[in-house]
Amino acid sequence: MNVCVLGAGTMGHGIAQVTATAGHDVRLRDVKREFVDDGLNAIRSNLHGGVERDKLTAEDADTAFDRIEGYTDLGEAVSGAALVIEAVPEDIDIKQETFEDVEEHVSEETVIASNTSSLSVTEIASVLSDPSRAVGLHFFNPVHIMGLVEIVVAEQTDEAMTEFAREFVAGIDKTVVEVTDSPGFASSRLGVALGCEAMRMVETGVASVEDIDAAMELGYRHPMGPLELTDVVGLDVRLDILEYLREELGERFRPPQVLKRKVRAGNLGKKSGEGFYVWEDGEAVRPADGEGGER
Ligand code: NAD
Repeated sequence: MNVCVLGAGTMGHGIAQVTATAGHDVRLRDVKREFVDDGLNAIRSNLHGGVERDKLTAEDADTAFDRIEGYTDLGEAVSGAALVIEAVPEDIDIKQETFEDVEEHVSEETVIASNTSSLSVTEIASVLSDPSRAVGLHFFNPVHIMGLVEIVVAEQTDEAMTEFAREFVAGIDKTVVEVTDSPGFASSRLGVALGCEAMRMVETGVASVEDIDAAMELGYRHPMGPLELTDVVGLDVRLDILEYLREELGERFRPPQVLKRKVRAGNLGKKSGEGFYVWEDGEAVRPADGEGGER
């Protein structure tokens, strides 16, 4: 099947990788050639890592990589696609504009999916002349490692599209949870709620960053504590989601001051080198200044 992924960033390149590894032909599109190349390089490096860890053979890695073509022209990228998955920034205007542009260049049968982590798929799809072809396909970060995809069924989504989405997700070897379109779906809403409460506990001095994370890791068998996870996701990403959920669901999702302060200071978590922890070579090495303790 021909699949087009729009956006070659953190999520887009991962979605392209797992789709190509499952045997589909993939077109990966970003707005600048350098972003496309960054995405392709990240895929090459992930596949290489997979070979080193014996997850796939070098031949399979090469075949998967060869199935992916990079594009900057939207019309060329989406033409002939059976499925288009957008992974552009979490902004309703950008997503709607993208959906509109896609619909202009694809056939009536093409399924158009959004990887939004919190926005209303119903609202994104409302700009389409045929919104029944839209569905949410919410992947998790890092895409090549996480086994879950949340299928978001919008108000207008045709049952045939949901069935198509289920089959596609099964075919790329991921597990589905299905949710109706509501703010934050199932995953982001619960994940952000836990992260938000953990940040409030830091603010009020209930426990140190490390002890709060250890409580969830050791006491509840979470693979990663809520504050470290906030660093991995990106503090700016979490802030955007919280602001949206507060608007939609009320004050219980009011972003904590500590989160706003860190985002204003440019401390965005793992990607910037500091959030609730200081990060070196992809690892959290100690709590950030003011958050206490040694790791
Ligand atoms: P990112 O900033 O890493 O990547 C976004 C990419 O989209 C950038 O490379 C940007 O140049 C490109 N872009 C912007 N406008 C575009 C357009 N019109 N067409 C094609 N590309 C365009 O962001 P990300 O973290 O990959 O997030 C993308 C989407 O995935 C968002 O909706 C986000 O909420 C969702 N998501 C993110 C995570 C996460 O942990 N980061 C997890 C699940 C879902």
